[in-house]
Amino acid sequence: MGLLPYKNEPYLDWSDESNQEAMWAALEEVEEYLGKSYPLIIGAKPIETDGEIISVNPSYPSQVVGRIGRATEREADMALETATKTFESWSRTAPEARARILIRAAAIMRRRKLEMLAWEVYEGGKPWAEADAQVAEAIDFLEYYAREMLRLKDGVEVYSVPGEESRYFYQSMGAGVIIAPWNFPTAILTGMSSAAIVAGNTIVMKPSEYTSVLGAKVAEIFEEAGLPEGVLNFCPGYGSEIGDYLVTDARTRFISFTGSMKTGLRINELAARQLSNQRWIKRVIAEMGGKDAMIVDDSVDLDAAADDIVASAYGYAGQKCSAASRAIIHHDVYDDVLQKAVEKARALKVGVPESVDVSMGPVISEPQFEKVFSYIEVGKDEGERVLGEDPGDPNKGYFIPPTIYADVDPKARIAQEEIFGPVLSVIEARDFDDALRIANDSPYGLTGGVYSANRDHLERARHEFKAGNVYFNRKITGALVGVQPFGGFGLSGTDSKAGGPDYLPLHMLARTVVERF
Ligand code: NAD
Repeated sequence: MGLLPYKNEPYLDWSDESNQEAMWAALEEVEEYLGKSYPLIIGAKPIETDGEIISVNPSYPSQVVGRIGRATEREADMALETATKTFESWSRTAPEARARILIRAAAIMRRRKLEMLAWEVYEGGKPWAEADAQVAEAIDFLEYYAREMLRLKDGVEVYSVPGEESRYFYQSMGAGVIIAPWNFPTAILTGMSSAAIVAGNTIVMKPSEYTSVLGAKVAEIFEEAGLPEGVLNFCPGYGSEIGDYLVTDARTRFISFTGSMKTGLRINELAARQLSNQRWIKRVIAEMGGKDAMIVDDSVDLDAAADDIVASAYGYAGQKCSAASRAIIHHDVYDDVLQKAVEKARALKVGVPESVDVSMGPVISEPQFEKVFSYIEVGKDEGERVLGEDPGDPNKGYFIPPTIYADVDPKARIAQEEIFGPVLSVIEARDFDDALRIANDSPYGLTGGVYSANRDHLERARHEFKAGNVYFNRKITGALVGVQPFGGFGLSGTDSKAGGPDYLPLHMLARTVVERF
């Protein structure tokens, strides 16, 4: 199969007014479809449910974005049954044919890009550039995993002893459950699903209850790309209602999860129990939360450091697992960097993402709004609020202003617990050693950054910073597929490195076959 070499999908140039006009047109067009209903799709059949999930626009909570089917255990059972049956044929489909469907899906997503961006704005509250980066990431996953499957389809080289031939290759695993979060509703859902599918598995796809319309769009794109019926079974529902069922069922071969630490640990525990009619150990791929730190050493470009702290802390209102939620600053430059970060964060335009200049939209939901607000309250006893005020009425949109707490103790709750909102804790360190020790004092280990001109310090951090993705002298968010494989240590997850060369084999079984001549 001849494919062009892989390259990342370019971002839209928003300084080009024709792109802005096209985006307004897409927002208008998609507005016509707000409030529509989306059934479950199991084995290509639409399945109506008694209950529904009502998805709202976080910028205008009274605006319904869509009504989505709400699976119960009955539908979850149907979806697992269909995925299990379809596995027999899909696992025998040639890897090239499976890869081709991903390439087609990428082409469709590219054609439908502005429409997808508009749904991201309505359902996710994403500023335009964030929405664009996310849809580009979804396209990248499709393109990258298709090529990865072609790379791995014949296995990898091993040595043979004289008189024998050793072969080492991969085969598909079974029916898996894909459980996705709301913060990258197109990219992460597409990435987890496409990796599982191209590896020859069938899936039950469960998007987040907050972004299920985007989930329906992703499922629609796979269908349009020609994915045979029953390979992807679209099964939206509440995690609390169908999650345990899907995870514990004996037909489930693997679970690919991205979400909070709490849910991930529960899934890991439940999946470990072996049922009497279950003939495998379920595989769990879990990518979870973070409490990501950026260290600023002395003698660096303080403006650049402050810029990147602000970009990392407030992109998508801090609702990225990779977001900087701790800035750990060397004593000698502490006051200067803090002041610059406050000024730059104050300049961010917060509002409804209706134009390209809005850099921060709302948080996703009322529970998320309440959670972040409760941490803002906790912070009042744990640091000095140098930026931000209490948020307003959530009925007018779930907006929370950029908030900075200074002089925070490294052991404070706002320095240890994942807030997942636009709240940054700033901590003073005596020196670089102290800063690295503070950064590593966390149950998480997802991303981290070091701003330093000191080569020894960078080399120490290269090996000793306890995080799956470590960035030097730049922002710590926005990992690129195929360029910065992504995933964390510790309680941030199973370090599965999405968008990297080790990811697809997690969805396959490796076989060694030896023949003596
Ligand atoms: P969440 O854990 O609340 O929900 C994630 C998914 O799990 C949803 O689809 C939900 O319905 C489902 N779920 C809930 N309870 C379940 C159960 N008992 N069994 C099975 N599934 C269940 O997380 P969220 O609020 O949607 O997402 C935010 C979290 O995701 C943050 O902690 C963030 O750091 C993390 N995240 C991590 C990464 C990463 O790559 N490490 C990427 C994005 C988000």
